[in-house]
Amino acid sequence: MNFENILHETYGIDREICRLGSLVEEELVSVFREIDQTRDYNQIKVLNAMQEAGLAERHLFGTTGYGYDDAGRELLDQVYAKVFDTEDALVRTQIVCGTQSLALCYFGILRPGDELLSVTGRLYDTLDEVIGLRENPLSLAAMGVAYRQVDLLPDGSPDYEEISASVTGSTKMAVIQRSRGYSYRESFDIETIGKIISAVKAANPNTIVLVDNCYGEFVDTAEPSNVGADLMAGSLIKNPGGGLALTGGYVAGKAQLVALCADRLTAPGLGKHVGASLDHNRQMIQGFYMAPHTVAESLKGAVFTAGLFERLGFETSPAATAKRSDIIQAVRFEDPEKLKAFCRNVQAAAPVDSYVSPEPWDMPGYEDPVIMAAGAFVQGSSIELSADGPMKPPYIAFMQGGLVYANVKLAALLGADRMLKEER
Ligand SMILES: *Cc1c(COP(=O)(O)O)cnc(C)c1O
Repeated sequence: MNFENILHETYGIDREICRLGSLVEEELVSVFREIDQTRDYNQIKVLNAMQEAGLAERHLFGTTGYGYDDAGRELLDQVYAKVFDTEDALVRTQIVCGTQSLALCYFGILRPGDELLSVTGRLYDTLDEVIGLRENPLSLAAMGVAYRQVDLLPDGSPDYEEISASVTGSTKMAVIQRSRGYSYRESFDIETIGKIISAVKAANPNTIVLVDNCYGEFVDTAEPSNVGADLMAGSLIKNPGGGLALTGGYVAGKAQLVALCADRLTAPGLGKHVGASLDHNRQMIQGFYMAPHTVAESLKGAVFTAGLFERLGFETSPAATAKRSDIIQAVRFEDPEKLKAFCRNVQAAAPVDSYVSPEPWDMPGYEDPVIMAAGAFVQGSSIELSADGPMKPPYIAFMQGGLVYANVKLAALLGADRMLKEER
């Protein structure tokens, strides 16, 4: 019994599609090999940091109450800092998501009269209200922090000239978003992030550079902190949680800046000293240990999906063989029925809630109905396989995650098979 047979016999996928899948996989061996090499490099980096920090069984247990002297929590901060090559890190379950980890950076550091400049165009949707582009009495704008942005060039690349001209003496912080988020542009690789940081620092060496690192961790052998970022933030139900962390977020960077974020998270003066980890240390530490592997599985799934749908004549972004800097895969379907069929079959392939059939719905904050597929062990976890697409032309599905490559492969093949059958 081989993989093609079990797909055909268990899921009724046409043998032709199964064979196409195997062919695509063969064509992409060198891409997979590169992903393995990055994974192995990052795995040794993480393993060594854990050994050097003296990880022992006692670190896997947590604390209650104030959470003073939480050895596991302190060790994990140290391990993140070592792996990301930063002075310090703040890794907490009390940071409930990526948006909050970014908000901590903004509210911890920016003061009335300061200016925040996005140098990579519009930020991720959920930040609109944090910044004050959507009204909120607690936004940065309401507090007197000005926001400006340098848009990307029409081809999606950074506008270095405009960045140099826009960073002034009053630009307290510049922010770079590494991932494409849910826009149809390329993610920025580490080299490009380094060039953007140089442009910012040349215009004002005192400007603090923050990188929104969501979806980017461990995709490369280096991180934004290796090329001059002062601070990075991300979510633990994405890459660095390795699929095991049940919740959480992190901030890593210059010690003084991390301390400000910690004071903002708890209370001025309490900073990093409090915050019971309860029973989470084991999953957070083991999750970080697994993260290079998990990210590699999801990257292989993304590459396979791109390869398969390219073969079927669809446009993908990034292309199967393109260099990647995040785990997101976009497929352009140009047809609402195909987009729906794809998302439904991602759901049908999921380990949890596979019997559910997603329908497009009017999500708060979005202009068009959105169809979403997610069947995850951790609610909303997008290091687990998930896909969504706004129901508007050109009908693009954004897919990300996958704890296990074979599961993503099944999802892609099932999607392709059912789409072609519906067409007939
Ligand atoms: C997911 C994400 C966020 C927000 O994280 P949440 O955990 O959804 O709050 C911010 N920026 C980028 C680029 C993201 O991918």
